[in-house]
Amino acid sequence: MKAIYRYTVAFLAILAIQPAAHRLEAQQRRTPTRVILFIGDGVGIAYWTAALFAADALSVQKLPVVGLVDTRSTSYITDSAAGATAYATGVRTYNGAIGVGPDSLPRKTVLEIARERGLATGLVATSSITHATPASFAAHVASRAEEFEIASQMARQEITVLLGGGRRFFDPAQRPDGQDLLGQMLRSYTYVTSPDSLLPVAKRGPARLLGLFAEQGMPKAMGRSPSLADMTLAALAVLTRNPEGFFLMVEGSQPDWRGHENAPLQEVIDEMLDFDQAIGAAIEYQRGRPETLIVVVADHETGGLAIQPDSTGMITGGYTTNSHTGEMVPLFAGGPGAERFAGILTSSRVGELLIEAVKR
Ligand SMILES: [Zn+2]
Repeated sequence: MKAIYRYTVAFLAILAIQPAAHRLEAQQRRTPTRVILFIGDGVGIAYWTAALFAADALSVQKLPVVGLVDTRSTSYITDSAAGATAYATGVRTYNGAIGVGPDSLPRKTVLEIARERGLATGLVATSSITHATPASFAAHVASRAEEFEIASQMARQEITVLLGGGRRFFDPAQRPDGQDLLGQMLRSYTYVTSPDSLLPVAKRGPARLLGLFAEQGMPKAMGRSPSLADMTLAALAVLTRNPEGFFLMVEGSQPDWRGHENAPLQEVIDEMLDFDQAIGAAIEYQRGRPETLIVVVADHETGGLAIQPDSTGMITGGYTTNSHTGEMVPLFAGGPGAERFAGILTSSRVGELLIEAVKR
């Protein structure tokens, strides 16, 4: 009886020590590296100004560091491929290049470096997920037009979360080579096509999450579902489970498209508020996890948009072109190391800093 008592006491003592040991282990484990990059395609200063005038207060205003980006590629006026490749690889390259340098040879991307270091990775866009901006983080091709090849490369990248449009590029019935990328990916991904099931499925914590909500680009912001904020929340719900951390790129793809269309200012504002709400979701996430770095950039300005008075004392949008312009674009950042993004930087320098951030 006495022996049993002694053993019981010893056993209880071990139980009491256990939680303390766990705490120590948790303290020794390094802080997770969490980097969220937002790219507003085409988002120059007038786009943010229009959104500010419409909403009075924007989420992006909560980010304390502001900078300007010189977006030049090897041309004065960049396109989204060279713009995103500069952010993804730290390399200045030619228009149309996807994850390759001026010599058309692959350059390692921040997403690939993050994955090699054991971080979870995610790409979110309102365009096709194979479109120039997200493609530049997870593919290496000489031309942005090679979207079927981009889809093949993306499917092999073991990206933790992929959310956006572009179903047709993964569909064997629509691919010229008949490859069943979707079928292959379903072996390791939980696949969502309905906007309503996105958040519930993401919160269940699938190992990998694939959501394709349109054959190509998603609809305009007004009436688009899921919203960019919903997709960002879903991505964060999955990525946050990796104790090492994650790299996530979220693109507001369509301010650029409204700029190309020289769309009415209200449609630009709709896209910008959708983009800003996604940034708000990330800032909310960061509040409980101060180790999270958030950087908001644009690849270039589109349309030469200016905010002008109309005849009724209200404002209207005036455009100087239906293509891109070379004006510097605003950058916003908050979190550890955010101050390194202040001042005037080239887009490739921003890329170098992002790579340094995921290597922390
Ligand atoms: Zn464009």
